[in-house]
Amino acid sequence: MTDCLFCKIAQGEIQADVVFEDGDVVAFRDINPQTPVHVLVIPRKHIVGFSDLTEGDEWLVGKIARTAARIAEAEGVAESGYRCVVNNGPHAQQSVPHLHMHVLGGRQMSWPPG
Ligand code: AMP
Repeated sequence: MTDCLFCKIAQGEIQADVVFEDGDVVAFRDINPQTPVHVLVIPRKHIVGFSDLTEGDEWLVGKIARTAARIAEAEGVAESGYRCVVNNGPHAQQSVPHLHMHVLGGRQMSWPPG
C-alpha cells in the first residue's frame, strides 16, 4: 500500500531500527517504547488489522507469533516474561492501520491493561 507508514518501513523507505526481517515479516523497535524491550512485528503484506485477516493469512499469524517469541529470546526477556499485544480498532487505540504485534518486556507489568 502506497500511503502506509509500516509498509514504507517494510520497504526500507522510512528508516527504523530493524532487529529481524525475512521475506514475510519485519521486526523493529517501537519509536516510543513503553517497556525496556518494545519491538513491533509486522507482516510485509498490508493487512489493516486483526479483523481483516483471511483464511489464507493463518500461516502468517503463526509466523508473526513465532517471530515474536524468537525476538523475546534474542532480547533476553523470554525467561523473565513478556507480553504480546495486538491492538485492533478504536477502543484498543490502534493508531497505525497495518497489523502489528507489540513484544513488550524487561520490566514488571500490571494487569488488567488500561
Ligand atoms: P498501535 O497503537 O497498537 O497502533 O501501535 C502503533 C505503534 O507504532 C506505537 O507504539 C508507536 O509508538 C509505533 N510507531 C509509530 N511510528 C513509528 C515509527 N516510525 N517507527 C517505529 N514505531 C513507530
